[in-house]
Amino acid sequence: MSGWSHRHVLDLASFSVEDFGTVLELAQRFRSLPVAGARKLPALQGRLMTSLFFEPSTRTRSSFEIAAKRLSAEVQSFSPSSSSLSKGESLLDTARTYVAMGANILVVRHRCAGVPRSLARDLDRCGEQVSVLNAGDGLHSHPSQGLLDLFTLARHFTPEAPSPASLRGRRIVIVGDVLHSRVARSNLWALTGCGADVVLCGPPTLLPECFADFVAAPPPGQSTDPVARRGRVQVTRRLEEALPGADAVMTLRLQKERMEQHLLTSLDTYHRRYGLSHARLALCADGVPVLHPGPVNRGVEIAGELLDDPGRCLVEAQVRNGIPIRMALLYLLAAS
Ligand code: ASP
Repeated sequence: MSGWSHRHVLDLASFSVEDFGTVLELAQRFRSLPVAGARKLPALQGRLMTSLFFEPSTRTRSSFEIAAKRLSAEVQSFSPSSSSLSKGESLLDTARTYVAMGANILVVRHRCAGVPRSLARDLDRCGEQVSVLNAGDGLHSHPSQGLLDLFTLARHFTPEAPSPASLRGRRIVIVGDVLHSRVARSNLWALTGCGADVVLCGPPTLLPECFADFVAAPPPGQSTDPVARRGRVQVTRRLEEALPGADAVMTLRLQKERMEQHLLTSLDTYHRRYGLSHARLALCADGVPVLHPGPVNRGVEIAGELLDDPGRCLVEAQVRNGIPIRMALLYLLAAS
């Protein structure tokens, strides 16, 4: 694909507007192909995708596996507890073992930020011909989720031709546990990269003020920002202030597994102040959609009736769109 220069996909801070456009365009093409009973696309025939997940996953792992199979790739899954890692083998040696067995793409999820990047760097240094795709690392990044959210929003605004331009000038609200969310971080790079303004909303314990400057400079290790003009980021504590004028609202899971101290006084109070419901959405224009990356704490970040309302809630569309987005990424990394 012309202009595509990424050997690995580790975060979205390094994506240009053209990169976002390339992924959205390919995903739209893959999405429109018939699935049931259809022959698979031969694009990745003879390629092997290995998934190395050191953290639990329902959606991401299955979605990558389905995406790989739809492109005719072989799929191999690694499970850390029953592998030689438990005998002391290093992650690099484990990864090289899979490369020796023919892996072309390693899809890596880890609870520590930076592991996919270090692995990619070490594999490059060893001269291995393999791509690393970050499937979520600690609080840092979850690029395929950021892209599928971008695709879902772009399709909501311009269903026939989703592109970065579909997002330009939109006001997207992200509410909840931003501090612990790699999804929020990836969305910040993706949405502002396509020219949307992002309003972050949450209590100070889950949304430090410094997030207002999140995209003000490129992240460590990157000397320039590939996007010339990003959308703005604003922080507010009050949902009543965030919602009016919103074009879409994304709510995030309270990441209880990453909260070391008690950061909330009670879940009830949290739901009253930051939980989304039909009543709360009356503050936005009619039909403004709601997104959630899942898994959901039903009744905490979002009321059950809203979650089950397909007219308002795009959670199922997000899950469905995850497949063509991941097909696009696998294709871009491994088809040539
Ligand atoms: N599934 C997403 C992630 O892995 C969101 C979440 O867990 O809340 O980051």
